Amino acid sequence: MMRQYELVEKVLAYDPNADEALLNKAYIYGYKKHGTQKRASGDPYFSHPIEVAAILADLKLDATVVATGLLHDTIEDTDATREEIDEIFGNEIGALVQGLTKISNLKLISRETAQSENLKKLFFAISKDIRVLLVKLADRLHNMRTINFVKPEKRIRIAQETMDIYAPLAGRMGIQFFREELEDICFRILNVDARHTILNRLQAMHEDEEDLLANIVDILNKKLKDAGVSARVIGREKRPYSIFRKMERQSISLEKISDIFAFRIITKNEDDCYRALGLVHTEWPMVPERFKDFISIPKSNDYRSIHTTIIGPTRKRIELQIRTEEMHEVNEYGIASHALYKENIYTNNPKTGAMPGDETEKPGSVPVSEESSAFKWLSQIIESLEDGDAPEQFFEHTKLELFADQAFCFTPKGRLIALPKHATPIDFAYAVHTDIGNTCVGCKINGITSRLRSRLNNGDEVEIITSKGSLPQAIWENFVLTGKAKSAIRRASREERKKQYAHLGKEMLIRIFKKLKIKYSDDKLTAALSVLAFKSIDDLLVAIARNEVRLKQVAIAVAPTLLDSKDIDFLNQQTHFELGASSKTNAIPIRGVSQNLGFIRFSKKYPPIAGERIVGIIKKGEGIIIYPIDADELEIFEDQPDLWVDLVWDLDEGDKNWFTAPIEITLLNEVGALARISTLIADQGCNIWNSFMLSKETDFHHLYMEVEVRDIHHFNILKNSLQTLSIIDDIKRVAGRKFGEITL
Ligand code: MN
Repeated sequence: MMRQYELVEKVLAYDPNADEALLNKAYIYGYKKHGTQKRASGDPYFSHPIEVAAILADLKLDATVVATGLLHDTIEDTDATREEIDEIFGNEIGALVQGLTKISNLKLISRETAQSENLKKLFFAISKDIRVLLVKLADRLHNMRTINFVKPEKRIRIAQETMDIYAPLAGRMGIQFFREELEDICFRILNVDARHTILNRLQAMHEDEEDLLANIVDILNKKLKDAGVSARVIGREKRPYSIFRKMERQSISLEKISDIFAFRIITKNEDDCYRALGLVHTEWPMVPERFKDFISIPKSNDYRSIHTTIIGPTRKRIELQIRTEEMHEVNEYGIASHALYKENIYTNNPKTGAMPGDETEKPGSVPVSEESSAFKWLSQIIESLEDGDAPEQFFEHTKLELFADQAFCFTPKGRLIALPKHATPIDFAYAVHTDIGNTCVGCKINGITSRLRSRLNNGDEVEIITSKGSLPQAIWENFVLTGKAKSAIRRASREERKKQYAHLGKEMLIRIFKKLKIKYSDDKLTAALSVLAFKSIDDLLVAIARNEVRLKQVAIAVAPTLLDSKDIDFLNQQTHFELGASSKTNAIPIRGVSQNLGFIRFSKKYPPIAGERIVGIIKKGEGIIIYPIDADELEIFEDQPDLWVDLVWDLDEGDKNWFTAPIEITLLNEVGALARISTLIADQGCNIWNSFMLSKETDFHHLYMEVEVRDIHHFNILKNSLQTLSIIDDIKRVAGRKFGEITL
């Protein structure tokens, strides 16, 4: 148990002018009030408030807050009253202790309706004075540190509540110091197995790379010093929970986690951040998609730093964070940091002396620097409190990132968009604005170009790329989650779908007619409409694309006298594609891989793999070319939405086709590397169709390969298992090459 003078000295160490008498008075009052009470551990109860006060002193908070820590359980657990505390310690501390009392036993993850009411109480208490939250978090942190003395069942409930609410809330307020430790303790309780597996892996990697940490710190330090940049470098091992989150977020296997160390360069000023960045980027290759500049665009919890990943001195990927000392403090301590925590701005109106805890006072007084975006977030919640939302509504609006079934994402400008968990960027786009949803063609998640059908996670920053005149794809309806997106897509795509089908039907007809040496014209079709029993050309063309009328019938109706038996044979063949027949989605199902037959074929340069998302592009004179949705070449067609045709795979379990995937592998120049790669590919049941070296450098080799796989799942397994090989630095799917393109 920390002694009285130790606590006082701890505070005086960072605040020589601290109110010593107040701290002593609070210590003695608490000690007397809690008397002989014991904790579950058997320790005297008062050891708990002392530890809470010590944690607040770790945050270097003022004596008022530290004293509140000492007193925080007195009204709740002893015969102390608000009046008595007001009398001895003043109205300010009295209000804080009372605020804490009100929220001391709130159950925040119960299944009952009380949950929303309780969450509202929590935010109401915080909104009156942010210091209530700081003390509450310190209280929870100490309770979590000593949770082993609590019964297992209760332990799990408290850990879940902490993981779901208090840890995210600490993160939202930017207090990483709290968030990280809370998460680590909860992870230990809630996910024993996962944590154990990760720890084992870390241990194994540690043995491999014992000297790496110090080594890289030395190299970075020397580089910075030589260039005259004054900075310090910190290397640290990542926490098991942050590794676990990364695995979840990016759905990568533990084996793929290769970077267990994170490095920080902490400079004196912002200019030096960019100088340091230039230095590392000049010296070592960067990984482009990993670069983020949160200095110019801070995160919504005030976090500022540059993030980059380089292929470092030991040819390993190294994650670097570059920030100034001041940013570092804000990043670690958030609203509790000196830059954001201002001592004298708690009172609503200093002149009248109204105190934040006064019952007459309205929520919304300024507890921290107004520049803090974490504070702005809190203000928004307080506003909705003032609007008098019903508890259920408030709960809905306020879940924010606190609940696991929600994903709270941000626009690049920091606007918060609340979505159901696993929502897609399309849901995000529609949530921002219907027009954005209707015209969205692509997205970036946390700066990385991503698929529109990606699943969003809490805290993702989503940038939607729109294209004027573009229209929603009907297939989106299959994977969006929000009702708003669903109905908008349905509405906007119905007409468009019809247009697209008509277009497709016409392309099919023109191509078929060409083979039959019939010249296509609208007039010829009009003449045949009554025979075929269609009202308009468009209706007929749509029916053709949907396979509701056979091409053969149309050809016979249009040119009954021109067809010979060879033509009829040819027409009979054209039923291979089974267009539209089993479509549930309005997208056109692709079954066959009769690759170069007829008017639909796979792109040779970007061959699609069964099961992945595909799209058709109508090319004049060629028919429809099928591409994987990620193919670079699709960019050319971005402005021509009328050329796009939605396609989906329609494969049976029994379909056993091979699909070619061109890949490029960057591998370390090591003896036997190629043999290991070939063996692994064979072990995964894949064929190597084609392979050649693109370039050889002293350290890295670049290898081009075409592998044959059964479907996209098979391909992903292959790719993941290749990635576990230590000799492989990078592997990516690329456009197909010809032998002539070797750049040896
Ligand atoms: Mn307590």
